Amino acid sequence: MFPETDIWQQVKGQIEVAINDADVIVFAVDSTIGVTPADVDVADALRRTEKPIVLVANKADNDRLATNAAEFYELGAGTPIPVSAFHNLGVDDLMAEVVSHFATAPAFLEPEADLKLAIIGRPNVGKSMLLNAIAGEKRAIVSDIPGTTRDSLDSLMQFDDWSVLLIDTAGIRRRGRIEKGIERYSVLRAVRAIDRADIAILLMDATELASAQDTHIAKYILDGFKGIILGVNKWDLAGEAGLTQAQAIQQVRERFRFASYAPICFTSALNGSGIANLLDTARQVYQEWTKGVPRYELRRRVMSAVAEHPPSLSGRNSLKIYSVAQDATGPPSFTFFVNRSDMVHFSYKRYLENALRAAEIAMIAYLVMIPIGYLL
Ligand code: GDP
Repeated sequence: MFPETDIWQQVKGQIEVAINDADVIVFAVDSTIGVTPADVDVADALRRTEKPIVLVANKADNDRLATNAAEFYELGAGTPIPVSAFHNLGVDDLMAEVVSHFATAPAFLEPEADLKLAIIGRPNVGKSMLLNAIAGEKRAIVSDIPGTTRDSLDSLMQFDDWSVLLIDTAGIRRRGRIEKGIERYSVLRAVRAIDRADIAILLMDATELASAQDTHIAKYILDGFKGIILGVNKWDLAGEAGLTQAQAIQQVRERFRFASYAPICFTSALNGSGIANLLDTARQVYQEWTKGVPRYELRRRVMSAVAEHPPSLSGRNSLKIYSVAQDATGPPSFTFFVNRSDMVHFSYKRYLENALRAAEIAMIAYLVMIPIGYLL
């Protein structure tokens, strides 16, 4: 048995989520060690899921080990398939077995909505309550629709003239209700919700602002080029805690320096204040995210930024920027045509990004540098 530590509890939580999502479970054991008590525990847990299990005896690097793999029969998890990942032996058998369990169910169709929004945050910050507050907003019509995985549920909210799909609201409700008080920030679940979202609200508790975990999640949101809103909830408690808005802004900005352009919204899911503003902000961020910039304006801004701060003054071998074009939205993505992309220092790229943001060309910009040698 594993010790019932907090860490193990958390790991188990993540495993449960992964198992729930899976169509087929590959259960890997180690041929060189044989059946361990931990294998028996895992086998027991897996049998309860009633999902197809493919038992893989890994590290079966030679005939003797491959023969020994038979001992894993006793796990009651099916016929062990000897595999040597190292020597690439048995992998075809493994995959054939995995594929044979695939259902031919129709693929999941991503629901349509104007904006796909994820609410992300540690337990107890008020995600569940915020969800209800949003659902209770003026003229919101809410319908539940199945999400991508068997235990997930999205909520589609129709406001006057736009629709918002709140992603994985089942996860939010479940965490809020059952796992309250336990530090079980389902990172896996959060990451999946962010992947599907256009915009993520990273929700925090005013009485306990930003943790390191929040910073990681914020970076994940930005690395995926999603829109981000920093939400400070439970703002009704700020007065009591002696926290002013200016202080809160300063703390949040300090913690999320890499997202200096992210709007900060103050909400109280409890009394409903700030909810309408949060939704308006989400709409604005979405407009930024899907913005198309007229080419002449883009060129003018970029060229003046370049003139103000040239990439390098070292003459013939310096970086030259010939032209710029927007090639996508959601997020706005810009291609720069340059003489040599290897000469673009990340700090210069950062400078250009910031210049575009400062000029309100695009809040969330994605820059690509393409070399075009023939213009040299
Ligand atoms: P979740 O785990 O992030 O979904 O958090 P919950 O929505 O379950 O809220 C956790 C606790 O914080 C509950 O006791 C809520 O009543 C409380 N709570 C949530 N939002 C607010 C808020 O805006 N103000 C106050 N004072 N309490 C809140």
